[in-house]
Amino acid sequence: MSRIVYVNGAYVPENEAKVSIFDRGFLFADGVYEVTPVVNGKLVDHDAHNERLDRSLRELKMAWPCGVAELTAMHKELIKRNNLHEGIIYMQVTRGVADRMFNFPKDITSSLIAFPQVMKLVDNPNARTGVKVVTTPDIRWLRRDIKSIMLLAPVLGKEEAYQQGAAEGWMVEDGFVTEGTSSNAYIVKDNTIITRPLSNRILAGCTRRALFRLAKEHHVKIEERLFTPAEAYAADEAFLSSASQFVMPIVEIDGHRIGGGQPGPVVRKLREIFLEEAQA
Ligand code: PLP
Repeated sequence: MSRIVYVNGAYVPENEAKVSIFDRGFLFADGVYEVTPVVNGKLVDHDAHNERLDRSLRELKMAWPCGVAELTAMHKELIKRNNLHEGIIYMQVTRGVADRMFNFPKDITSSLIAFPQVMKLVDNPNARTGVKVVTTPDIRWLRRDIKSIMLLAPVLGKEEAYQQGAAEGWMVEDGFVTEGTSSNAYIVKDNTIITRPLSNRILAGCTRRALFRLAKEHHVKIEERLFTPAEAYAADEAFLSSASQFVMPIVEIDGHRIGGGQPGPVVRKLREIFLEEAQA
């Protein structure tokens, strides 16, 4: 059965959805996006995604395509129309449609599209075994704090990881891990979680934000600082976080086994408490 997707105010079957070739998202990647998880037919932490969307739009001087309440209602309508039990809703806003010019066109209206994807988020088999990661150079621009649809560098990084039999690429800049191609990066040493502090060099993950809150509630220590691949190889545990992976254990980095090649106790506990809240 074909999905029902959303395009600028209309719910249509996916094979009937159309956007203009003059859309600036298509021509310049002049747009931003969000991915919100859905568990048991309900949006998880959607307010955090709306807040980050607001920030991304403001940083790019792009107008909201509709009100916040309307955006949330649209997400819920897509869940309903597609009978989505578990997966994600992808949404993207672009600056809109105009004849091709680099500077911002005057009186332009933002475009908004969205669609669901069915995924196994809770019972993800990878979470039982853990995944492999390889490091790759971070060749992205310097506004990674904006959730831009300009994703060619992460596409190349992810493909390189897949070619090497890994599930994710950890990007490295100036000798330090920045983040995954589509996730935040963490190591654990002596029961303390170590992750890079927020800046323009990484995306402020909504899952990261929720994890910080949950770790605090459960008295798990987090240290925000840079770490090198060598430090990661010697870590007790490692994991990544994102809206579609939640908390995912990592058991190998660049061929180095982490924590004996099994998901460790800290990451298992974090995933468990994250899932408890997502399913509540
Ligand atoms: N970092 C990057 C580069 C990402 O693309 C993503 C998600 O797509 C994340 C981190 C994790 O963010 P979130 O937890 O909001 O999905």
